[in-house]
Amino acid sequence: MAELTIRTPARIAICDITVEVNHALAQIGARDGICNLFVPHTTAAVIVSENWDPDVTADLLAHLERVVPRDGGFKHSEGNSQAHILSVMLGASIVIPVSGGKLALGRWQGVMLVEFDGPRERTVRVSVVGEG
Ligand code: ZN
Repeated sequence: MAELTIRTPARIAICDITVEVNHALAQIGARDGICNLFVPHTTAAVIVSENWDPDVTADLLAHLERVVPRDGGFKHSEGNSQAHILSVMLGASIVIPVSGGKLALGRWQGVMLVEFDGPRERTVRVSVVGEG
């Protein structure tokens, strides 16, 4: 397993970590298999989305903020229930195939860390199960 440390720049931010994950695969020595990415945080998520047009992820964040408004009358005393809910909705973990030592993503896809209660320093755990 390898760990990435990512500093998110704003309260809500999407950080493309595709290059960093591929570096971690090289560090692990993984050539082929299944990669699991996991964030050990309750206000963050990992996703696969388009990484060519930044409007795609801007639209995603704007839509999520409409679906789960920041001031939604929540009970949680920390005041960051929106972040906790969106973290659960997007998910703390994803699985991506690895081929030839790199993530086998589609042409327009990137792997992204999403933080909903930053700015913070975040960890992404990268582990690979090999095909032999
Ligand atoms: Zn909280």
